[in-house]
Amino acid sequence: MVKNIAVIRGDGIGPEIVNQAIRVLDKIGELYGHTFNYVDVDMGGCAIDKWGDPLPEAMLQKCIESDSVLLGAVGGNKWNDVPGHMRPEKGLLRLRAGMGVYSNNRPAKIWPQLADASPLRKSIVEQGIDFIIVRELIGGIYFGEHKTEVIDGIPTAIDVLTYSESEIERIGRIGFETAMKRNRKLCSVEKSNVLDSSRLWKKVMHKLSEEYPEVELSDMLVDNCAMQIVKNPAQFDVIVTENMFGDILSDEASMITGSIGMIPSSSLGSSSCGLYEPIHGSAPDIAEKNIANPIGTILSVAMMLKYSFDMQLESTAIEKAVSDYLDAGYRTADIMSDGMTQVSCSECADIIIEKLKKE
Ligand code: NAD
Repeated sequence: MVKNIAVIRGDGIGPEIVNQAIRVLDKIGELYGHTFNYVDVDMGGCAIDKWGDPLPEAMLQKCIESDSVLLGAVGGNKWNDVPGHMRPEKGLLRLRAGMGVYSNNRPAKIWPQLADASPLRKSIVEQGIDFIIVRELIGGIYFGEHKTEVIDGIPTAIDVLTYSESEIERIGRIGFETAMKRNRKLCSVEKSNVLDSSRLWKKVMHKLSEEYPEVELSDMLVDNCAMQIVKNPAQFDVIVTENMFGDILSDEASMITGSIGMIPSSSLGSSSCGLYEPIHGSAPDIAEKNIANPIGTILSVAMMLKYSFDMQLESTAIEKAVSDYLDAGYRTADIMSDGMTQVSCSECADIIIEKLKKE
């Protein structure tokens, strides 16, 4: 198979981790007889420096025309003071909207080898942490009107939160479909005691549940969910929620699994062209030191193979190689513990590539 992948290295550690993930992909190509072509795309701070725009239209087009997009991370202190519409993160929001990827999937799973890295008590971790957060990605308050104006002599900021029934229904469906492929438990998270958008959310979820009688649907207020994720994470199978709640809860969920550097994500819309990225940011504090953990990006590539290219065996081969790497006691600095062997970002990929075998 031949696949064209748009590659956004971005800023900070972005280029280092993406380069390692590409090496893994090339090895998969070699083992399974696929050709992966890469198209470079500038986005984020580097695009602001080069083009004066965090995502020039021509770059967005390259992404839309590709079979899928691999992204490292964007942003950094250098661009903190640029005007709002020019910030590196604006490029990311425009990319998601331009690609029409409305569903972000983030697994929160503890690798048994890293159980000690979780900040949660052992008795909680031992119950098993393995759930997915399905987050709405291109609606809600992040995409509403934002303005600051003087009202009655007082500077006042206004951010508008809107959700239509159809926006809720399409993400709700992804939640139910995801639950159908797992343990058939779906928790819909909202703030229906306060927000109209959440009351509509809840109504749509319950209407949809009539189409999925096999799925056990529960409702949870977002503040309670934030508590339950640390108190009893084993209760969750799939969580479905709106954009801002999902942003916050998925970061919380990533922390209980140990390291932010280990977690991949996929963003999908109505076509097979998806956006794949690790959940962390550009980590400027460790950039260009070759110490970042590339596994979140390597596992994002595994998700790309599974969800966009229908290459299940190839995807499993990567996950198995990562597991074998952890079993052999190798760790990057972020997850280093006593008795393990510390490796750099590129050494981590070297070992994973060495362990890659055709399934
Ligand atoms: P961050 O995720 O970049 O870093 C948080 C902490 O985790 C840092 O200590 C960092 O060193 C560590 N870390 C992150 N990824 C790691 C990895 N792969 N290996 C080892 N350690 C890792 O979050 P931040 O510091 O809040 O943000 C830094 C910049 O990234 C900001 O400009 C922010 O806007 C941007 N950001 C971008 C994205 C994205 O591109 N999707 C997401 C979040 C933040």
